[in-house]
Amino acid sequence: MRCQDTGTINEIIRVDKGDRDKQGNVIYREVLKVDANGNPPLCDCYKEQIFVNCNATSGMKPGEQNRFFENAILDQENRHFFQQAKKFVDSIDVHLKAGTWLYIHGDKQRAEPRGLSAFGTGKSYLTHCIGNELTRLKYRSIYVTEQKLFQDIKSTYRKDSEESEEEVLWRYHNVPILLIDDLFKSQYKDWAEDKMFHLLEARNCPGRVTIINGNYAPNRIDIAMERNGSAVSSRIFGQAVLMEMIGTDRRRNKLRGPESA
Ligand SMILES: [Zn+2]
Repeated sequence: MRCQDTGTINEIIRVDKGDRDKQGNVIYREVLKVDANGNPPLCDCYKEQIFVNCNATSGMKPGEQNRFFENAILDQENRHFFQQAKKFVDSIDVHLKAGTWLYIHGDKQRAEPRGLSAFGTGKSYLTHCIGNELTRLKYRSIYVTEQKLFQDIKSTYRKDSEESEEEVLWRYHNVPILLIDDLFKSQYKDWAEDKMFHLLEARNCPGRVTIINGNYAPNRIDIAMERNGSAVSSRIFGQAVLMEMIGTDRRRNKLRGPESA
């Protein structure tokens, strides 16, 4: 149905409001068709426009945009991680309703004593696969590295910035699905730690899924975030599906397959 570039479907319908003429015939009223909230329904072109500006894939580099569950090179070590992540995406509606998080983590303190690596095990690669699958399924989502997220906030402090800090934060607070690659990497100054903590707190509610990867086991986040780490830990323990990815460093060993952190 055409919206004539209004973005909404403005359909006039005839309804019987009980009015009758002298002969008892129905006098129909012409009204605008509205949804349960009293607004005209959104046109597909408008939904498409929102989606074009808000999908995980658009936040990735070109080489990352073609990483999918189907074309990842799997082996005995990483297969179950990919299966677990795919399962999470398959149940994304349930997770959205509940406000579930997914925390994909390594930790050198847990890996090294076992002769394994916490790095290069494919956490970012897996996060890209999740994001690209969500895009394919047309879920509104944002993929961002922690570093880029802080850059986005800081760039609003420039005089010529078109966006305010509030607008940037609003986007990250409210997008249904947020994927943060390499969280807890920053040397947090108080400023950065507070921003990140408030963002995570704002996302701690039904209707929002937050997918994070990082190099700290959930009980060691206080080492990365001095002031709020234990609060973030308890959110993650309470809210997140946990996935520990330690194993072979695929970058160092130059094995084929998922090669990023
Ligand atoms: Zn339209």
